Amino acid sequence: MEKINLRLFRKKTANNKSAFKRFLTRLEKQPPRGLDRIAVEADALVWQETDCLSCANCCKTMSPTYTKQDIVRISGHLGMSAEAFKEKYLYKDRIGDWLNKKTPCQFLNLEDNKCSIYLVRPRDCAGFPHHTRRRMVDYMHVFKQNIEYCPATYKLVEKMKERLR
Ligand code: SF4
Ligand code: SF4
Repeated sequence: MEKINLRLFRKKTANNKSAFKRFLTRLEKQPPRGLDRIAVEADALVWQETDCLSCANCCKTMSPTYTKQDIVRISGHLGMSAEAFKEKYLYKDRIGDWLNKKTPCQFLNLEDNKCSIYLVRPRDCAGFPHHTRRRMVDYMHVFKQNIEYCPATYKLVEKMKERLR
């Protein structure tokens, strides 16, 4: 498995993101038959080549959305009240979602790219990058956003593009 070179990834994304987004819009408007299965197969190939511990770009550049249950679980794990946890680490955005105040995420260990609350991390983190959802077509807007941050999603779209050419 190759280590991820984020500098190279950013360069590739800058060159290809418009074409990739157009491709995803086409899938959104006219989903081909078997789209969910094609995504599952492409996803399996992606993880054979992707080493998240050499990347952690999601934790460095994006914030998970914290559910109420996440906040209760993580604050309890840290021995804090939910209120103190929110006050210290989170803010509420204009649609009412709780997000990290800062990036990189305060729970990312930048020495080894590991999550210091891995076992109790937000559900959003556990499910990221959301590649194999039922009704993939509903996730095209998520991929359009994430191809700029997540090398695994970039590869997924690349493989789907090859497959559906
Ligand atoms: S909680 Fe952990 S997995 Fe989630 S963004 Fe922070 S460091 Fe990454
Ligand atoms: S999920 Fe994507 S952005 Fe996050 S570490 Fe893995 S490849 Fe990198």
